[in-house]
Amino acid sequence: MKLWQKLSLLTVCVLLLTGIVSGGVVIHGVMIYNQSKTMENYEQQIKSTAFALGRELQSSPFESYQKATKISYLKYLIRRYDASEYILIEDDHVICNETAFHLTDPSDARWGGETVFSVIQQKGSQYILLAGKRIPLGNISTNLKLVLVKDISSLYQNIRSQAFFYVLIYLSMIIVAVVLVFIITGRILKPLRELQRAAQDIQKGNLTRRADVHSKDEMGMMAQAFNKMAQRIENQVTELENESERRRQMMGSLAHELKTPMTSIIGYSDSLLHVNLKETQRTRALNHIYEQCKRLERLSGKLMSLIGMYDNDSICFEELPVQVLFEQAALIEKYNLEQQKIKLVYSCEMGSRKLDKDLMISLLVNLIDNAAKASDVGSTIYLTGKDNVIAVRDEGCGIPEEEIEHVTEAFYMVDKARSRKAGGSGLGLALCSKIAELHGARLLIESRTGEGTTVLIKFAPLGE
Ligand code: ATP
Ligand code: MG
Repeated sequence: MKLWQKLSLLTVCVLLLTGIVSGGVVIHGVMIYNQSKTMENYEQQIKSTAFALGRELQSSPFESYQKATKISYLKYLIRRYDASEYILIEDDHVICNETAFHLTDPSDARWGGETVFSVIQQKGSQYILLAGKRIPLGNISTNLKLVLVKDISSLYQNIRSQAFFYVLIYLSMIIVAVVLVFIITGRILKPLRELQRAAQDIQKGNLTRRADVHSKDEMGMMAQAFNKMAQRIENQVTELENESERRRQMMGSLAHELKTPMTSIIGYSDSLLHVNLKETQRTRALNHIYEQCKRLERLSGKLMSLIGMYDNDSICFEELPVQVLFEQAALIEKYNLEQQKIKLVYSCEMGSRKLDKDLMISLLVNLIDNAAKASDVGSTIYLTGKDNVIAVRDEGCGIPEEEIEHVTEAFYMVDKARSRKAGGSGLGLALCSKIAELHGARLLIESRTGEGTTVLIKFAPLGE
């Protein structure tokens, strides 16, 4: 059963229950009230009739009458007070009854009490009120009881027709209520249906789908939460897709990077095996094989480092003076720079930071190495550290503006031939970028072709 059907059914049940209970209580109350009012009126009537009869009998020479005269006189008096409503009992015998009712128990002592005794008797659909009382006769020794007989069926008929009228009105109210409940629940549940449709669309793969609900109530809040969740899922899926695409490209590039030295090694070793080479040619071939193997070794070393970056357990942060990092990086690059007659000038105004020593030295060495590869013989590289920023600046060939955003991608090289000739594999900056990220820093590249490049490592201010 659907929610709107449940809600409608529940409302109808509640309405029916409350209507039956409250209607029943009200009708019963009205009936009791009317009944007691009617009895009160007729009790008053019999009281005054009994009193009037008693007065008339006391003022007459009733005691001196013969038995037959007494009865005739009593009948005469009763007729004056409407004989069709009264039964007159002397001791235990009915002496006058011109009503349509047959009194079965005239000897019942309750008909002759000082106060009025009344009872309602039901005969089929007829309701008869009987009210009895002793006629006050003063010194007269006769025991006379007067019983009033009243057909009060109309009272019950009235109540019945009132109840019928109430049920009729109530049923029409319920029909109206049911229609209103259908319309209102339909409106209330509209956002829920929209949410359901949105969820189904997302399930089918339409990740950009959002629930179009703008109400300020709980439904609106739920829709907002749903949309945020959908947005998050979409972002994560996009991120996963991008990541998978990056990996695919990386695998392609890796295969390509491996293929070139491999082909070269196979070619030269084939010549060594099958061709009768001169000594100089043999030496050249072996040199070539050696160079390509070194290249493969470097490539594998960088790849291992890059993969190792994802294993955070191997990272060890310690409080280190940045100056020490500069000195060690300069020492490592000393031989390489001297070969190219390039000068490295460094100055550090930064104090100590929490860093991983090996990773940071690797980062600086990679940046100096890149700067050296891009620089001409005799030029200078500047390594500075100031205000949470480490910068490596060179006066080399620079990077074209459109290439800057790509150079941190693995295996990306602006000038492939030149980079490969210099022993590069396009992994250095990817490595640097990952190291900076692990230190909560950002790697920024500023470059102008023909003028030089500055690579900045921006750390978060200390204490954040
Ligand atoms: P590897 O670092 O793996 O030995 P690589 O130096 O070629 O090889 P990256 O360090 O990732 O690779 O650099 C990517 C590319 O960016 C380089 O091939 C080069 O073209 C360009 N590049 C990097 N640094 C500079 C620089 N300072 N000046 C000019 N071009 C640069
Ligand atoms: Mg490099």
